Amino acid sequence: MQIPDTLIESLKKARGFLEESFIKVHESSEHQSSIRTNPLKWRDPEEIQMAFPGLEPVPWSSFGHYLKQRPVFTFDPLFHAGTYYVQEASSMFIEQALRNQGQISKPINALDLCAAPGGKSTLFQSILSPDSLMVSNEVIRTRVPILTENLNKWGAMNFVVTQNDPSDFGSLEEFFDLLLIDAPCSGSGLFRREPELISEWSPSQVQLCSRRQQRIITDALPALKSGGLLIYSTCSYSVEENEEILDWMAESFELESLRIPIDPDWKIFETQSTDKSCFGYRFYPDQVRGEGFFLAAFRKTGSSIGIAYKKKQFSFERISKKEDAVIRPWLDDQTELSFLKKEQMVYALPVIAAKQIESLSSTLYLKKAGICLGKLSSNELLPSPELALSKILNKNIPSLDLGLEDGLRYLRREDLHPAGVRPGWRLVRYKEHGLGWIKVLSNRSNNYYPQEWRIRKAGG
Ligand code: SAM
Repeated sequence: MQIPDTLIESLKKARGFLEESFIKVHESSEHQSSIRTNPLKWRDPEEIQMAFPGLEPVPWSSFGHYLKQRPVFTFDPLFHAGTYYVQEASSMFIEQALRNQGQISKPINALDLCAAPGGKSTLFQSILSPDSLMVSNEVIRTRVPILTENLNKWGAMNFVVTQNDPSDFGSLEEFFDLLLIDAPCSGSGLFRREPELISEWSPSQVQLCSRRQQRIITDALPALKSGGLLIYSTCSYSVEENEEILDWMAESFELESLRIPIDPDWKIFETQSTDKSCFGYRFYPDQVRGEGFFLAAFRKTGSSIGIAYKKKQFSFERISKKEDAVIRPWLDDQTELSFLKKEQMVYALPVIAAKQIESLSSTLYLKKAGICLGKLSSNELLPSPELALSKILNKNIPSLDLGLEDGLRYLRREDLHPAGVRPGWRLVRYKEHGLGWIKVLSNRSNNYYPQEWRIRKAGG
């Protein structure tokens, strides 16, 4: 792998950069694969070890594990069941920034501004207090479906997916306690995994990304409360997108740079920006067990004024008593929920989160709120796939347990012919983890696995 000379030259000013070992690690074909397991779905850590023998913990993450070998995730039904997310280890460090600032013990409003495909959003879902509300935003329309799919499979319900430009958040003044800007960047930190990115890299692209990062931060910052936590991250090594952005932030806004405790054994490099001595954390793949990454945290100390303008509404209605009676049998009665309806589709949210929806929906393009339970039609619920993957599903709903071969056939959306199963809706499970629905009829069954989620790849 040939790293551009101009990149190597520019990195000589980056703190902690070791040219020789950096080049060497990019020439080597060795990769470190890692996953982050979903605490909502595993009852017992031994189960995880059985599914992935030889796991090693990612030291800065509660749920991250290095894999001994990289399986073909597409052919693992547990992957489709949302029991884990394939995520490179460095970016799991976000957890440390949250823990250090006490953002996990109380209900908060969190915004993941650049969220697709959902790596950091699913991490937030595992770390934040369950009464928190997370807004996962992705401005690029074509990337919203993968974000929504990953969140749906994760099975948490206290989230909203929006598709807005960062400038749209300005009018939600001081709404969020936590703002994550995992910014679009020149991507040099991903060269080992995605070598095709090398040909797109250039110094002028770094400049362009730097200007875009400044614009995104300026637009979104008013939405953060005074006293709130801002996390800024990139997967670039370039100083122009990292320390120079920190200096610019500290000069332009009322922000206090925060230090994150790190263990020296982790080999994460703590850097400081040149002018304002802001702390940042650099991940070099020749030093840490992970890919290239950069992260910094700030506390907002002043208030800032956003530009208010209204967007069209995603108006929800309350459900009727009759409709409530239709959906209740599908749900675990332990969970206190609010239900919202839009065009026959019913959504469930934690009571606290539902109260926030009104202010959000007057400003943002809400694509999705909470867990979609399904479609109400003629006093029946046509259950949604995400209900099958969620934790609010009634444990007594009849299920159909499949082995690997039939599990993969189900995920390919092929017909199943379960013998001796009584007609009705069945929750399809693999190793007791919900995958989706089939409806068994007297002489056949209908596979309700979503077309857009199905496995298309041959093999398995
Ligand atoms: N946080 C994601 C995760 O962990 O899976 C990765 C985010 S990726 C580094 C940056 C995201 O920013 C991309 O999804 C991209 O579509 C989005 N993006 C691109 N241009 C943007 C802009 N002008 N404003 C906000 N987001 C943008």
